[in-house]
Amino acid sequence: LHIRVLGGLILGAIAGTIINSTFLTPVDGVKPPPPEWLVFIQKYITDPIGQVFLRLLLMTVVPLVFASLALGVARLGGMGSLGRIGLKTFAYFFLTMTAAVVIGLTLVNLVKPGVGLPPAIQTQMAEQFGGKLNDTLSKPTTFGIQTFIDIVPRNPLQSMVNMEMLSVIFFALLVGIGITRLKAEHNQLMQNFLESVGELMVFIIGLAMKFAPFGVFALIFNTTANFGLDLLKNLATYVIVVIVGLGIQMFVVFPILLSSLGKMNPLTFFKLTRPVILTAFSTSSSNATLPTSIRTAEQDLKIPAPIAGFVLPLGATMNMNGTALFEGVTAVFLAQVFGIELTLTQQIIVVVMCVLTAVGAAGVPGGSIPLLALVLTTVGVQPGAIAIILGVDRLLDMCRTTLNVLGDMTAAVYINQSEGAALSKSPTS
Ligand code: ASP
Repeated sequence: LHIRVLGGLILGAIAGTIINSTFLTPVDGVKPPPPEWLVFIQKYITDPIGQVFLRLLLMTVVPLVFASLALGVARLGGMGSLGRIGLKTFAYFFLTMTAAVVIGLTLVNLVKPGVGLPPAIQTQMAEQFGGKLNDTLSKPTTFGIQTFIDIVPRNPLQSMVNMEMLSVIFFALLVGIGITRLKAEHNQLMQNFLESVGELMVFIIGLAMKFAPFGVFALIFNTTANFGLDLLKNLATYVIVVIVGLGIQMFVVFPILLSSLGKMNPLTFFKLTRPVILTAFSTSSSNATLPTSIRTAEQDLKIPAPIAGFVLPLGATMNMNGTALFEGVTAVFLAQVFGIELTLTQQIIVVVMCVLTAVGAAGVPGGSIPLLALVLTTVGVQPGAIAIILGVDRLLDMCRTTLNVLGDMTAAVYINQSEGAALSKSPTS
């Protein structure tokens, strides 16, 4: 199946790029309208296939996050290890996200991709991408005490319906802790129920994955056919800085963490997590990838269900290494474009803001864009300037989501290494 998914990805990218470069190359800077047959294919074939694939994955997310997290907490709590594991998990998330932003900021300050662009190009970039600003940007996200209050759901069902994952997580944590306080019989009943919900979702994901080669083909085809590679040219250095930063975190930092803390051969890790990498890359969504990550962690990495079920749903929502790095590089890049010099203190504020907003970003395609607006205001850049990078965002989103999800997997490996043995000796497990 992995090979077929990879085949879908490669074929989709090739077909899309060929079509884009043959029919949609700008002539004198003007992009020609897409031919009718292409509009037809996208509207009636590739778009529906891609959407259905995404929805098949997404429909399992809320029940899966709720069931696996509540069950994970109930089991870990029953074994008396919840506090320690929780603390370790959060520490790991925050430290790796901080490392990612620092790598990004170091690179963007060294390479300075935004410095020296002629003012004419700056204005042109703002105009060229100006039309793509979506509604979310016109209502800038605010960040204050209310942000934290909102994590506590007024009505958990409503949070589930709206996929407000931080609130769903909050509720699931409380339910999980509550289960450990129930009398044995009810405790077991709840655990069996949650376990069955999880198994049901895994069944649906299995079906969705059979469809994955086509879904992945369709998603990648649409992206490459619509955006092509020409947008990359203007912003090439910026894109390269982001991708190199993501690459350093993925191929230098993660292997160090895996071999030192996780006691796992990084090559084995990358080999076993291939389905996760492919799903994250093609869906650009941590949420949509979560079902695959849980399955891979349990079945291939042999991580016990309580650990995978605790670390991965939390990670999919909160631990976004790639997003944090991307936001940092983008904020400094845009400041450079507009000639804003940032002091060291400001850059440290950027690090903190990037980590906080990455925690708050939704694990959906483009989930970090509204929060990026917030980071920009701290460096004195107009949120509307995001327009400049929106054109290349889909590509960066695919790459940063892959890092986001692999970061969660490394966290699960680490927690399993440091706690798994203790858990399996526990009489209740
Ligand atoms: N697409 C990312 C994710 O789902 C979030 C983002 O950075 O936009 O992990």
